[in-house]
Amino acid sequence: MVNLNLFIERPFAIFLVWMGVAVMTLGASGTGAGEGDGAGPAARIARFSGDKDAAISFTVDDGFKGATDELSKAFEPFGFKVTWYVNPGPTTEDMTGYKGRTMWPQWRALRDAGHEIGNHGLTHANLTQLEAQAAAHEIDEAYAQIEKHLGTPPFSYCPAYGARNEAVDALIAVKHRAQTGARLFYGGDKWTLEKANRWVDAAIAKKEWIVPMLHSYSKGYAEFKEPGAFDTHLKYVKENEARLWVAPFATVAKYVRLRDASKLESRPVAGGVELTLTSELDTRVFDRPLTVVVNAPGAVRAEAKRAGQSEPISARVAEHRILVDLLPGSEPVTVSWSK
Ligand SMILES: [Zn+2]
Repeated sequence: MVNLNLFIERPFAIFLVWMGVAVMTLGASGTGAGEGDGAGPAARIARFSGDKDAAISFTVDDGFKGATDELSKAFEPFGFKVTWYVNPGPTTEDMTGYKGRTMWPQWRALRDAGHEIGNHGLTHANLTQLEAQAAAHEIDEAYAQIEKHLGTPPFSYCPAYGARNEAVDALIAVKHRAQTGARLFYGGDKWTLEKANRWVDAAIAKKEWIVPMLHSYSKGYAEFKEPGAFDTHLKYVKENEARLWVAPFATVAKYVRLRDASKLESRPVAGGVELTLTSELDTRVFDRPLTVVVNAPGAVRAEAKRAGQSEPISARVAEHRILVDLLPGSEPVTVSWSK
């Protein structure tokens, strides 16, 4: 079910991007332009949404029904939205041909509740052991079936067994915009609450995006020896939510890709700043707004408005700064505030 080589002690994740270099650790945060009153740039793109220090994307592989039932129940009270990597081959609409997997209606319900349903391959085959044509079928037919049953295609791919190479990456990248890399192994004999909580601490300290990998809760492959300890861990994650962005893999991947491909310019105007946020990426695909942080010591109230739009953009004041969530676009945005 999973390549044990994937187990990593390093408390942070590496992820893949489709920009020539296959593997990279999370890069520097966005650059800001323009000068404030000597206190650093007037505005910058936040490393993560909401200007949080770190991000965590829980991922659950293989979609066995017992695991989905138990884990969705565990995440629910905390409001955490996660990524479920499914194998469409053994997935059915109803009990006809049922193979122990979560059925499509439940995936649709989880998707509707804000979770991501990602592609884990048609039959959970090891892509590196298939001929190119068979590997492409394993990837593309799964993509087509997810699109058919959910109405929307998957954004991200998780290779079964973590098995990948350059050729496989290229096949996945034809239709998918992101794929998982090394993840943190949750469950099984080696997982402990203390260790998992330290992974969260380290992610916040190092400003990293971590990606836990789960398979089951109380029974099944890599189940938790004491399932309650996982709930306690989720509570710890929740307690750190002010500094930790909890979101599905695709959501964070979209943010990170857009962040690193966007350019922010700012210039002072009467009562505030004018921001121009542009990107070469298609914001219809990378549709996760970026958080722009404007230095505004003493600000009490703030507002933001995009040129040519009547609807104001939400702007929040937090600790001498203003946070504005924006999609890149050609029209400038004026942020103004009062003290
Ligand atoms: Zn798997």
